[in-house]
Amino acid sequence: MADTPFNVLRLGYRKGRDPRITTHLALVSRALGGTRFLLAGDEDNDLFENVASVNERFGGAMSCEHIKGSMGWLKRFVEEDAGDGEPGVAIHLTMYGQPYREVIPQIRRDRPVVLIVGGAKVPGDVFKHSQYNVAVGNQPHSEVAALALFMEAWFGDGGTERHFPDARLVIEPSARGKSVHDKERENEK
Ligand code: SAM
Repeated sequence: MADTPFNVLRLGYRKGRDPRITTHLALVSRALGGTRFLLAGDEDNDLFENVASVNERFGGAMSCEHIKGSMGWLKRFVEEDAGDGEPGVAIHLTMYGQPYREVIPQIRRDRPVVLIVGGAKVPGDVFKHSQYNVAVGNQPHSEVAALALFMEAWFGDGGTERHFPDARLVIEPSARGKSVHDKERENEK
């Protein structure tokens, strides 16, 4: 079965305060198997260009999109249309939720998924619209850590050991120093 779309939705983005951590969220999403990164709150083309530049060098095709009216978007995603005219699955990352390792096996994988990461203040409707509210431990910590641990558990090694076939720069794992192949240069030789 082909991988179903895996979207990551970052709520409440503030351009003046959150670019670094939100760029990290986007890069984790890309590296571990996300199909699309959705940003709600402020628009930020620089952030999207940053991700496009990583795609251009290291491969992969995760797209980025700004969405307006995130609660309306989410309601539509879970009730009507996840992109193909049928409802999808929303999973909300929250320290108030249920243990992620116990919940993941219960989640269907044949429908598009949106994994929701909160911002400074998370609207109560997110809990209501999401079919799953899951915690990566019931302590407050980092959205980047919560996202990475969830995606690792969801995709297994297929997340962290991901290779992008269209990569220009390919890192050769090394015990010491940096070893990077530039496919374009090597093909010119
Ligand atoms: N103060 C915010 C609120 O109203 O709940 C939460 C701020 S927290 C730094 C930002 C996001 O990190 C949360 O919305 C959640 O998605 C994620 N997060 C933090 N700790 C988490 C945990 N233990 N489990 C799952 N997600 C977590």
